[in-house]
Amino acid sequence: MSHKISNEAFQRMVEKAAWLISEGRIVRISDILYYVIGRRSRHLVKIGDNGDLTCSCFGFKSRGICSHVLAVSTLRKMKEGVEIINEIMQERIRRELKQLYRGEITR
Ligand SMILES: [Zn+2]
Repeated sequence: MSHKISNEAFQRMVEKAAWLISEGRIVRISDILYYVIGRRSRHLVKIGDNGDLTCSCFGFKSRGICSHVLAVSTLRKMKEGVEIINEIMQERIRRELKQLYRGEITR
């Protein structure tokens, strides 16, 4: 990774990623698409053909890494990660995605 961030910034990112996971805010849409419900905004994390994760947030664009990518990456490595998502969450996400595509939620 060519981008450089401080240890402090990285630690904050890891803590945020842990929070996103423990709060059930990472939602698996498909094998290659995850929806992240942030405190104020929503993001899409995609897994590319090469296996690299990218995020729609500004932080990822400027730093090449973000808490959302970290959280999804971590979940994908946990074998019980998929089980975190249940039917209630899926329904919530369908509503969230409609809002996102309508531009009602800030990216
Ligand atoms: Zn992000």
